[in-house]
Amino acid sequence: MNETSPLSPRVTLKAKRDQSIRRRHPWVFSGGIKRIEGQPKAGDWVQVFANKGACLGWGHYSPDASIAVRMLTFEDALPDDNWWHQQIADAVRVRKDLGLFGQEGQNTCRLIHAEGDGMPGLIADLYGSVLVLQCHTPGMHRNLDDLVEGFRLALGDVMVGVYDKSAKTLAKNGGVTSEDGWVWGKAPANHKALEYGNQYVIDWEKGQKTGFFLDQRENRALLGSLSKGKKVLNVFSYTGGFSISALSAGASEVHSLDSSARALEVCEENIRLNGMDVSKHKSIQADAMEYLKTENLSEYDIVVLDPPAFAKRASARHAAVQGYKRINLRALGMMKSGSLLFTFSCSQAVDDALFANTIVAAAIQAGRTVRILHRLHQPPDHPVNVFHPEGSYLKGLVLRIDD
Ligand code: SAH
Repeated sequence: MNETSPLSPRVTLKAKRDQSIRRRHPWVFSGGIKRIEGQPKAGDWVQVFANKGACLGWGHYSPDASIAVRMLTFEDALPDDNWWHQQIADAVRVRKDLGLFGQEGQNTCRLIHAEGDGMPGLIADLYGSVLVLQCHTPGMHRNLDDLVEGFRLALGDVMVGVYDKSAKTLAKNGGVTSEDGWVWGKAPANHKALEYGNQYVIDWEKGQKTGFFLDQRENRALLGSLSKGKKVLNVFSYTGGFSISALSAGASEVHSLDSSARALEVCEENIRLNGMDVSKHKSIQADAMEYLKTENLSEYDIVVLDPPAFAKRASARHAAVQGYKRINLRALGMMKSGSLLFTFSCSQAVDDALFANTIVAAAIQAGRTVRILHRLHQPPDHPVNVFHPEGSYLKGLVLRIDD
């Protein structure tokens, strides 16, 4: 329930700091705030005003974060319960219009991509009949009941359980404590997610993010289409998304490398689940940086490099670029003539041009002939709000390497 009153906390911005908000960019930085009235607490709604007093809208307050307010509406009125339901219904309709529901062999989809769907602070991933919610702000988490109701209305019988996976993300954002667990219903027995006909165990309890990386769905399918008869090394494999796609498309052999033993266990479970020949797969538990320094990659026809975000913020950009250059230089230097490199960055602070330039620098140093065959991005169920270009985070290149 949202309550509006003349006493709602008010945040007034410094002069000129209203400009980005008027352009509908949803972030108010703590440094842009002139005055806070009404003593808002973490997660409270605050009404945001320009320096000269015009109302700019309403957002959720996070006192201990550099993004102090995330705007949810640019209207004068405080959102009511119906607002939550409408936002969710709209986002679900976008996915339905994209044909992401009811496709044969496919039952996974990101339903809410935070700012991209006008709901900053919320990620919602649907895995078959289970919805996993990850709140990044106390304000989102406080409205869990409205969220669950909104998804029930929009999805009907499709959804049988909602799992809240916000403990870690909330702790990072202002020390709010919460426990992960079911907030509505629960998973059906033998729950499996389906992506392009392949089955996956989704580890929402102990896995990373919401349990799986849906953002690579189309890129995994592309790898599959090029994998027949090929030997593939999947570096930073997590639970084997790219590995399963390659094996199901007829790869001759696939090696999955990750530092997480748990991720590799689930990867092997996924291989068994899909009835694949386990002798064609090998798990390598190792630090990728060390492995790439010492191992020879010339036996592989395809290598995938999908590291975690090296730059979590702009200040880490330079170190991140060096990290990307280092791993790509090793791969470009060692891979055999005629091989393919799928290389990715999910760092928001490293944009398409910077990533591509980093790869060019690595190719120059490696002294190889390198062609860009594909430029890859996040799929349409991870949309980017035009007023929030930071939402475009996943970029990848498929490179062909020759002498
Ligand atoms: N490609 C995967 C997602 C990769 S997420 C997919 O399609 O599902 C990044 C992975 O990198 C995580 O599984 C994490 O455990 C692993 N990782 C992080 N640092 C690592 C390191 N230094 N060496 C090896 N793996 C690492």
